[in-house]
Amino acid sequence: MEKKLVRTLCFKLIPDNPELLDELMLEIRNVFNQYLEACKKLNTTNRNKLETYPVKSKLIQKMAREKAREAVKSYFELRKQGKDTSFPKPKEKPMPVRMNYKEGYVVKEDFTVRISVYPRVHVYGRLKGSDLDFAYLYNALKGKYDIGTAELLKRDGEFYLHVTISKDFNKSYEPKTFIGIDVNENSVAITALDESGRVLKSAILEFNELKFLRHKFDLIRKRVQSKKLSMLKVLGRIEKNTVRDWCYKVSRIVVEFVKQFPKPIIVLENLNGMRESIDYGKRMNRRLHKIPYAMIQSFIEYKALWDDVLVERVDPRNTSHRCPLCGGRGVRRKRLFKCSCGLQDHADRIASLNIALRGYTYLKENVPSVKRLPALRKVRWVAAGRVNRPTPAVRVYLGEATVFRRW
Ligand SMILES: [Zn+2]
Repeated sequence: MEKKLVRTLCFKLIPDNPELLDELMLEIRNVFNQYLEACKKLNTTNRNKLETYPVKSKLIQKMAREKAREAVKSYFELRKQGKDTSFPKPKEKPMPVRMNYKEGYVVKEDFTVRISVYPRVHVYGRLKGSDLDFAYLYNALKGKYDIGTAELLKRDGEFYLHVTISKDFNKSYEPKTFIGIDVNENSVAITALDESGRVLKSAILEFNELKFLRHKFDLIRKRVQSKKLSMLKVLGRIEKNTVRDWCYKVSRIVVEFVKQFPKPIIVLENLNGMRESIDYGKRMNRRLHKIPYAMIQSFIEYKALWDDVLVERVDPRNTSHRCPLCGGRGVRRKRLFKCSCGLQDHADRIASLNIALRGYTYLKENVPSVKRLPALRKVRWVAAGRVNRPTPAVRVYLGEATVFRRW
Protein backbone atom coordinates (compact mmCIF):
# COMPACT_ATOMS: atom_id res chain seq x y z
CA MET A 1 0.00 0.00 0.00
CA GLU A 2 1.17 3.46 -0.84
CA LYS A 3 1.90 5.38 2.34
CA LYS A 4 1.51 9.09 2.57
CA LEU A 5 2.59 11.88 4.82
CA VAL A 6 -0.43 14.10 5.36
CA ARG A 7 -0.59 17.51 6.98
CA THR A 8 -3.42 19.94 7.49
CA LEU A 9 -2.42 23.59 7.27
CA CYS A 10 -4.65 25.98 9.16
CA PHE A 11 -5.10 29.52 7.92
CA LYS A 12 -7.38 32.36 8.68
CA LEU A 13 -9.03 33.63 5.52
CA ILE A 14 -9.74 37.29 4.90
CA PRO A 15 -12.18 37.25 1.97
CA ASP A 16 -13.04 40.19 -0.29
CA ASN A 17 -16.68 39.14 -0.25
CA PRO A 18 -17.66 37.48 3.05
CA GLU A 19 -21.40 37.66 2.24
CA LEU A 20 -20.89 35.44 -0.76
CA LEU A 21 -19.01 32.87 1.36
CA ASP A 22 -21.91 32.87 3.84
CA GLU A 23 -24.19 32.24 0.92
CA LEU A 24 -21.96 29.40 -0.22
CA MET A 25 -22.11 27.72 3.20
CA LEU A 26 -25.90 28.00 3.26
CA GLU A 27 -26.15 26.69 -0.27
CA ILE A 28 -23.91 23.75 0.60
CA ARG A 29 -26.27 22.95 3.45
CA ASN A 30 -29.24 23.03 1.04
CA VAL A 31 -27.48 20.69 -1.38
CA PHE A 32 -26.47 18.39 1.49
CA ASN A 33 -30.06 18.20 2.72
CA GLN A 34 -31.39 17.52 -0.77
CA TYR A 35 -28.95 14.65 -1.19
CA LEU A 36 -29.91 13.24 2.20
CA GLU A 37 -33.47 13.28 0.95
CA ALA A 38 -32.35 11.59 -2.27
CA CYS A 39 -30.51 8.82 -0.40
CA LYS A 40 -33.61 8.21 1.68
CA LYS A 41 -36.03 8.10 -1.27
CA LEU A 42 -33.81 5.99 -3.50
CA ASN A 43 -32.53 3.97 -0.55
CA THR A 44 -28.98 4.03 -1.92
CA THR A 45 -25.69 5.86 -1.73
CA ASN A 46 -24.76 4.88 -5.27
CA ARG A 47 -23.20 7.88 -6.99
CA ASN A 48 -24.68 7.15 -10.44
CA LYS A 49 -28.17 6.71 -9.11
CA LEU A 50 -27.90 9.90 -7.08
CA GLU A 51 -26.74 11.70 -10.20
CA THR A 52 -30.21 11.20 -11.71
CA TYR A 53 -31.94 12.84 -8.76
CA PRO A 54 -32.93 16.44 -9.55
CA VAL A 55 -31.02 18.54 -7.04
CA LYS A 56 -31.65 22.26 -7.30
CA SER A 57 -28.48 24.30 -7.08
CA LYS A 58 -26.37 26.67 -9.09
CA LEU A 59 -23.25 25.49 -7.30
CA ILE A 60 -20.37 23.95 -9.14
CA GLN A 61 -19.19 22.12 -6.06
CA LYS A 62 -20.10 18.49 -5.78
CA MET A 63 -18.59 17.94 -2.37
CA ALA A 64 -21.89 18.35 -0.50
CA ARG A 65 -23.13 15.22 -2.24
CA GLU A 66 -20.08 13.30 -1.03
CA LYS A 67 -20.67 14.51 2.53
CA ALA A 68 -24.28 13.40 2.39
CA ARG A 69 -23.22 10.02 0.96
CA GLU A 70 -20.69 9.53 3.75
CA ALA A 71 -23.29 10.36 6.39
CA VAL A 72 -25.83 7.93 4.93
CA LYS A 73 -23.18 5.27 4.33
CA SER A 74 -22.12 5.27 7.96
CA TYR A 75 -25.80 5.07 8.92
CA PHE A 76 -26.28 2.03 6.64
CA GLU A 77 -23.16 0.49 8.10
CA LEU A 78 -24.33 0.92 11.69
CA ARG A 79 -27.76 -0.46 10.82
CA LYS A 80 -26.14 -3.49 9.21
CA GLN A 81 -24.26 -4.12 12.44
CA GLY A 82 -27.62 -4.14 14.19
CA LYS A 83 -26.98 -0.90 16.06
CA ASP A 84 -29.87 1.27 17.10
CA THR A 85 -29.52 4.36 14.94
CA SER A 86 -31.60 6.84 13.01
CA PHE A 87 -31.26 8.32 9.54
CA PRO A 88 -29.05 11.46 9.48
CA LYS A 89 -31.06 14.59 10.11
CA PRO A 90 -31.09 17.54 7.73
CA LYS A 91 -28.70 20.32 8.82
CA GLU A 92 -30.03 23.64 9.98
CA LYS A 93 -26.86 25.65 10.22
CA PRO A 94 -24.59 26.72 7.35
CA MET A 95 -22.09 23.96 6.64
CA PRO A 96 -18.33 23.91 6.21
CA VAL A 97 -17.39 23.58 2.57
CA ARG A 98 -15.00 20.91 1.38
CA MET A 99 -13.35 21.78 -1.91
CA ASN A 100 -11.14 20.01 -4.41
CA TYR A 101 -7.96 21.75 -5.42
CA LYS A 102 -8.18 23.53 -8.78
CA GLU A 103 -11.91 22.76 -8.91
CA GLY A 104 -13.31 24.55 -5.89
CA TYR A 105 -10.30 26.58 -4.86
CA VAL A 106 -6.87 27.64 -6.06
CA VAL A 107 -3.88 29.02 -4.17
CA LYS A 108 -1.73 31.50 -6.08
CA GLU A 109 2.00 32.12 -5.78
CA ASP A 110 1.38 35.22 -3.67
CA PHE A 111 -0.72 33.12 -1.22
CA THR A 112 -4.02 34.59 -2.29
CA VAL A 113 -6.87 32.13 -2.62
CA ARG A 114 -9.64 31.96 -5.15
CA ILE A 115 -12.81 30.13 -4.18
CA SER A 116 -15.36 29.27 -6.84
CA VAL A 117 -18.95 29.78 -5.76
CA TYR A 118 -21.03 29.78 -8.93
CA PRO A 119 -19.83 29.41 -12.50
CA ARG A 120 -17.59 32.42 -13.12
CA VAL A 121 -18.32 33.83 -9.65
CA HIS A 122 -15.35 33.77 -7.32
CA VAL A 123 -14.34 35.01 -3.91
CA TYR A 124 -10.73 36.08 -3.44
CA GLY A 125 -9.02 36.05 -0.10
CA ARG A 126 -5.79 36.56 1.80
CA LEU A 127 -4.38 33.99 4.22
CA LYS A 128 -3.03 34.46 7.72
CA GLY A 129 -1.20 31.72 9.56
CA SER A 130 1.96 30.47 11.21
CA ASP A 131 5.40 30.60 9.60
CA LEU A 132 5.44 26.81 9.54
CA ASP A 133 2.13 26.48 7.69
CA PHE A 134 3.17 29.14 5.17
CA ALA A 135 6.49 27.37 4.67
CA TYR A 136 4.64 24.12 3.94
CA LEU A 137 2.30 25.87 1.54
CA TYR A 138 5.23 27.50 -0.23
CA ASN A 139 6.95 24.13 -0.64
CA ALA A 140 3.69 22.59 -1.83
CA LEU A 141 3.27 25.32 -4.45
CA LYS A 142 6.83 24.56 -5.56
CA GLY A 143 5.79 20.94 -6.11
CA LYS A 144 7.40 19.30 -3.07
CA TYR A 145 4.00 18.32 -1.67
CA ASP A 146 0.66 17.60 -3.29
CA ILE A 147 -2.14 19.99 -2.51
CA GLY A 148 -5.41 18.22 -1.76
CA THR A 149 -8.83 19.23 -0.55
CA ALA A 150 -9.47 22.26 1.62
CA GLU A 151 -12.22 22.95 4.10
CA LEU A 152 -13.74 26.38 4.49
CA LEU A 153 -15.28 27.03 7.88
CA LYS A 154 -16.56 29.87 9.97
CA ARG A 155 -15.96 30.26 13.69
CA ASP A 156 -16.87 33.27 15.82
CA GLY A 157 -17.53 35.32 12.72
CA GLU A 158 -14.14 34.58 11.13
CA PHE A 159 -13.42 32.42 8.13
CA TYR A 160 -10.79 29.68 8.19
CA LEU A 161 -9.30 27.57 5.45
CA HIS A 162 -7.80 24.18 6.31
CA VAL A 163 -5.66 22.97 3.45
CA THR A 164 -4.54 19.35 3.23
CA ILE A 165 -1.16 18.62 1.70
CA SER A 166 0.50 15.25 1.32
CA LYS A 167 3.59 13.51 0.08
CA ASP A 168 3.79 10.04 -1.35
CA PHE A 169 6.69 7.91 -0.34
CA ASN A 170 7.88 7.11 -3.79
CA LYS A 171 11.34 6.18 -4.86
CA SER A 172 12.57 9.77 -4.84
CA TYR A 173 12.47 9.84 -1.08
CA GLU A 174 12.11 6.58 0.67
CA PRO A 175 13.15 7.16 4.28
CA LYS A 176 16.01 4.97 5.43
CA THR A 177 16.46 6.23 8.97
CA PHE A 178 13.61 6.78 11.41
CA ILE A 179 14.41 9.29 14.09
CA GLY A 180 12.21 9.62 17.15
CA ILE A 181 12.51 12.85 19.11
CA ASP A 182 11.31 13.35 22.65
CA VAL A 183 11.36 16.90 23.96
CA ASN A 184 11.71 17.39 27.70
CA GLU A 185 12.17 20.09 30.28
CA ASN A 186 15.92 20.04 30.13
CA SER A 187 16.83 17.61 27.41
CA VAL A 188 15.97 16.35 23.98
CA ALA A 189 16.24 12.60 23.49
CA ILE A 190 16.89 11.32 19.97
CA THR A 191 16.87 7.71 18.76
CA ALA A 192 17.62 6.57 15.22
CA LEU A 193 16.38 3.30 13.71
CA ASP A 194 17.68 1.89 10.45
CA GLU A 195 15.59 0.34 7.68
CA SER A 196 15.32 -3.00 9.43
CA GLY A 197 14.25 -1.40 12.70
CA ARG A 198 17.62 -1.79 14.42
CA VAL A 199 18.58 0.93 16.88
CA LEU A 200 21.51 2.79 15.32
CA LYS A 201 22.16 5.49 17.83
CA SER A 202 20.62 7.31 20.74
CA ALA A 203 21.64 10.66 22.09
CA ILE A 204 20.44 12.87 24.86
CA LEU A 205 21.03 16.54 24.35
CA GLU A 206 21.08 18.09 27.78
CA PHE A 207 20.65 21.71 28.58
CA ASN A 208 19.81 23.68 31.63
CA GLU A 209 19.75 27.03 29.92
CA LEU A 210 16.02 27.31 29.81
CA LYS A 211 15.69 26.74 33.52
CA PHE A 212 18.36 29.36 34.19
CA LEU A 213 16.74 31.79 31.80
CA ARG A 214 13.39 31.48 33.49
CA HIS A 215 15.01 31.83 36.90
CA LYS A 216 16.98 34.88 35.84
CA PHE A 217 13.91 36.65 34.58
CA ASP A 218 11.98 35.84 37.75
CA LEU A 219 14.78 37.37 39.80
CA ILE A 220 14.85 40.52 37.70
CA ARG A 221 11.12 40.83 37.99
CA LYS A 222 11.35 40.64 41.77
CA ARG A 223 14.03 43.29 41.82
CA VAL A 224 12.09 45.75 39.74
CA GLN A 225 10.88 47.87 42.61
CA SER A 226 8.70 50.24 40.72
CA LYS A 227 6.47 47.48 39.34
CA LYS A 228 5.80 49.79 36.49
CA LEU A 229 3.61 48.08 34.01
CA SER A 230 5.63 49.31 31.04
CA MET A 231 8.82 47.94 32.60
CA LEU A 232 7.26 44.53 33.18
CA LYS A 233 5.94 44.51 29.66
CA VAL A 234 9.39 45.19 28.24
CA LEU A 235 10.84 42.44 30.43
CA GLY A 236 8.17 40.05 29.26
CA ARG A 237 9.01 40.78 25.66
CA ILE A 238 12.74 40.28 26.23
CA GLU A 239 12.06 36.99 27.98
CA LYS A 240 9.86 35.83 25.15
CA ASN A 241 12.51 36.66 22.56
CA THR A 242 15.24 35.00 24.60
CA VAL A 243 13.24 31.80 24.94
CA ARG A 244 12.49 31.93 21.23
CA ASP A 245 16.19 32.27 20.37
CA TRP A 246 16.97 29.39 22.64
CA CYS A 247 14.38 27.24 20.88
CA TYR A 248 15.99 28.12 17.52
CA LYS A 249 19.33 26.88 18.82
CA VAL A 250 17.92 23.61 20.10
CA SER A 251 16.04 22.89 16.90
CA ARG A 252 19.10 23.68 14.78
CA ILE A 253 21.28 21.30 16.77
CA VAL A 254 18.68 18.56 16.60
CA VAL A 255 18.26 18.82 12.83
CA GLU A 256 22.03 18.95 12.28
CA PHE A 257 22.33 15.77 14.32
CA VAL A 258 19.58 14.12 12.31
CA LYS A 259 21.27 14.95 9.00
CA GLN A 260 24.23 12.66 9.71
CA PHE A 261 21.98 9.69 8.88
CA PRO A 262 21.06 8.53 5.37
CA LYS A 263 17.62 9.68 4.17
CA PRO A 264 16.23 10.53 7.59
CA ILE A 265 12.63 11.05 8.59
CA ILE A 266 11.93 12.81 11.88
CA VAL A 267 9.13 11.43 14.02
CA LEU A 268 7.54 13.83 16.49
CA GLU A 269 4.63 13.55 18.86
CA ASN A 270 1.43 15.01 17.50
CA LEU A 271 0.05 17.67 19.77
CA ASN A 272 -2.79 18.74 17.53
CA GLY A 273 -6.11 18.29 19.18
CA MET A 274 -4.60 18.22 22.65
CA ARG A 275 -6.58 20.47 24.91
CA GLU A 276 -5.61 21.89 28.24
CA SER A 277 -8.76 20.71 29.94
CA ILE A 278 -7.95 17.08 29.31
CA ASP A 279 -5.58 15.26 31.57
CA TYR A 280 -2.80 13.57 29.64
CA GLY A 281 -0.94 12.23 32.63
CA LYS A 282 1.54 13.94 34.89
CA ARG A 283 4.49 13.86 32.55
CA MET A 284 2.72 15.20 29.47
CA ASN A 285 0.97 17.95 31.43
CA ARG A 286 4.25 19.09 32.92
CA ARG A 287 5.91 19.16 29.53
CA LEU A 288 3.06 21.06 27.95
CA HIS A 289 3.12 23.76 30.60
CA LYS A 290 6.71 24.13 31.62
CA ILE A 291 8.50 24.23 28.32
CA PRO A 292 7.75 25.93 25.04
CA TYR A 293 7.05 22.46 23.82
CA ALA A 294 5.05 23.24 20.72
CA MET A 295 7.56 25.94 19.78
CA ILE A 296 10.56 23.60 19.87
CA GLN A 297 8.66 21.02 17.86
CA SER A 298 7.48 23.45 15.23
CA PHE A 299 10.99 24.95 14.91
CA ILE A 300 12.43 21.46 14.39
CA GLU A 301 9.81 20.85 11.74
CA TYR A 302 10.41 24.22 10.10
CA LYS A 303 14.16 23.75 9.95
CA ALA A 304 13.73 20.19 8.67
CA LEU A 305 11.34 21.35 5.97
CA TRP A 306 13.92 23.71 4.47
CA ASP A 307 16.61 21.05 4.72
CA ASP A 308 14.40 18.54 2.87
CA VAL A 309 14.07 16.22 5.84
CA LEU A 310 10.58 14.78 6.17
CA VAL A 311 8.67 15.02 9.42
CA GLU A 312 5.97 12.69 10.60
CA ARG A 313 3.68 13.19 13.60
CA VAL A 314 2.48 10.24 15.66
CA ASP A 315 0.07 9.63 18.51
CA PRO A 316 1.88 10.49 21.75
CA ARG A 317 -0.07 8.13 24.01
CA ASN A 318 1.93 5.64 26.07
CA THR A 319 5.26 6.55 24.51
CA SER A 320 6.79 6.94 27.94
CA HIS A 321 5.45 3.73 29.47
CA ARG A 322 5.62 1.11 26.74
CA CYS A 323 8.55 -1.28 26.96
CA PRO A 324 10.26 -1.45 23.54
CA LEU A 325 11.67 -4.92 24.22
CA CYS A 326 8.66 -6.89 25.44
CA GLY A 327 5.76 -4.52 24.67
CA GLY A 328 4.64 -4.54 28.29
CA ARG A 329 4.05 -1.59 30.51
CA GLY A 330 7.08 -0.32 32.35
CA VAL A 331 7.46 2.02 35.28
CA ARG A 332 9.06 5.40 34.97
CA ARG A 333 10.83 6.88 37.97
CA LYS A 334 12.37 10.22 37.15
CA ARG A 335 15.10 9.40 34.66
CA LEU A 336 14.91 5.64 34.95
CA PHE A 337 12.67 3.27 33.04
CA LYS A 338 12.13 -0.20 34.48
CA CYS A 339 10.22 -3.14 33.07
CA SER A 340 9.37 -6.52 34.58
CA CYS A 341 11.25 -8.17 31.68
CA GLY A 342 14.46 -6.81 33.14
CA LEU A 343 15.02 -3.76 30.97
CA GLN A 344 16.40 -0.74 32.77
CA ASP A 345 17.29 2.30 30.75
CA HIS A 346 17.21 6.06 30.49
CA ALA A 347 13.50 6.95 30.48
CA ASP A 348 13.77 9.70 27.87
CA ARG A 349 15.68 7.45 25.51
CA ILE A 350 12.93 4.85 25.84
CA ALA A 351 10.34 7.51 25.01
CA SER A 352 12.25 8.62 21.90
CA LEU A 353 12.71 4.98 20.85
CA ASN A 354 8.97 4.36 21.20
CA ILE A 355 8.25 7.43 19.09
CA ALA A 356 10.67 6.22 16.40
CA LEU A 357 9.10 2.74 16.49
CA ARG A 358 5.65 4.21 16.03
CA GLY A 359 6.77 6.12 12.95
CA TYR A 360 8.53 3.04 11.60
CA THR A 361 5.47 0.85 12.14
CA TYR A 362 3.21 3.30 10.35
CA LEU A 363 5.39 3.59 7.27
CA LYS A 364 6.77 0.07 7.03
CA GLU A 365 3.61 -1.67 8.19
CA ASN A 366 5.51 -4.14 10.28
CA VAL A 367 6.68 -3.96 13.82
CA PRO A 368 10.40 -4.49 14.31
CA SER A 369 11.46 -6.43 17.34
CA VAL A 370 14.08 -4.61 19.30
CA LYS A 371 16.55 -6.90 20.97
CA ARG A 372 19.43 -4.79 22.02
CA LEU A 373 19.99 -1.15 22.79
CA PRO A 374 23.33 0.45 22.02
CA ALA A 375 25.13 2.52 24.64
CA LEU A 376 23.67 5.92 25.23
CA ARG A 377 25.56 9.01 24.21
CA LYS A 378 25.13 12.15 26.20
CA VAL A 379 25.82 15.37 24.41
CA ARG A 380 26.19 18.19 26.82
CA TRP A 381 25.20 21.62 25.70
CA VAL A 382 28.27 23.80 25.69
CA ALA A 383 27.56 26.62 23.33
CA ALA A 384 25.92 26.99 19.99
CA GLY A 385 29.42 27.09 18.51
CA ARG A 386 29.96 23.38 18.97
CA VAL A 387 27.73 22.68 16.02
CA ASN A 388 28.44 23.87 12.51
CA ARG A 389 27.78 27.54 12.14
CA PRO A 390 24.30 28.18 10.86
CA THR A 391 23.78 29.03 7.24
CA PRO A 392 23.56 32.78 6.82
CA ALA A 393 20.05 34.04 7.20
CA VAL A 394 18.25 34.07 3.92
CA ARG A 395 15.15 36.13 3.92
CA VAL A 396 12.51 35.51 1.37
CA TYR A 397 9.68 37.93 1.18
CA LEU A 398 6.47 36.48 -0.08
CA GLY A 399 3.04 37.92 -0.14
CA GLU A 400 2.42 40.76 2.20
CA ALA A 401 4.63 40.39 5.19
CA THR A 402 5.72 36.80 5.31
CA VAL A 403 9.33 36.46 6.28
CA PHE A 404 11.02 33.13 6.16
CA ARG A 405 14.04 32.77 8.30
CA ARG A 406 16.55 30.09 7.57
CA TRP A 407 18.85 29.27 10.32
ZN1 LIG B 1 9.84 -5.20 29.01
